[in-house]
Amino acid sequence: MTDVRREIHLLITIAKIDAELNDCRTEASQLPEKIDKTERDIKAIEKSVVEAEAHLEAMKKEKRLLEQKLQDSGEKLKKFKVQLMEVKKNEEYQAMLHEIAHMEKTIDENEERLLMIMDEFDQQGLQTVDFKKQKEEARRKLSNERSGLGARLEELKKEIARLEGEKPKILMELDPQIKKRYDRILAKLHDFAVTHITDEVCHGCHSRIPPQAAVEVRKNDTIITCQACGRILVHYVS
Ligand SMILES: [Zn+2]
Repeated sequence: MTDVRREIHLLITIAKIDAELNDCRTEASQLPEKIDKTERDIKAIEKSVVEAEAHLEAMKKEKRLLEQKLQDSGEKLKKFKVQLMEVKKNEEYQAMLHEIAHMEKTIDENEERLLMIMDEFDQQGLQTVDFKKQKEEARRKLSNERSGLGARLEELKKEIARLEGEKPKILMELDPQIKKRYDRILAKLHDFAVTHITDEVCHGCHSRIPPQAAVEVRKNDTIITCQACGRILVHYVS
């Protein structure tokens, strides 16, 4: 006669292996996404650095242009003022005064724009430095993450291999009839055929099981299956 308690003890071991396998596989499958996310972050920061540098370069050009303009207008203004002294006709004198006033106004505007650009230039420079810092930090983070996650992935692979090696040994110890039952459920559900309950809920399908069935499962002396998903239910504290 089958010693049900012994069988259930084996089934509990299998349920624990399956639960651990499931955790390891889930974690392993999520690791590449974590690395991708950091890589995407770095690309976004790199784009900001390129844009900030382009903006800085454009401002540098405008600054040089304005400085040149100011120098030219300054020289022209000096010449005009000298010429003004030599003008005899009142009409010409007035026209020249008008020209000088216009030039002075343009110089004022350009000087104002230059001050604004210099101010913006400083701010943009600080922002660019900040973006560069962020980029370096993200790169460092990625490199740490890569080695950390790579090592974790190796650990998980080893653990998965160990558990996958362990499982058939336990399955072989099962009573042939129970093993057949186990295989039948597994063939149907593909992931795992035996699971535990938490309170009165099946861990496999999250359905509530009748309170009496939960009491029976907790005794671990009869093989009980979930009415909703068909998995064998056992009791252990996870
Ligand atoms: Zn279930």
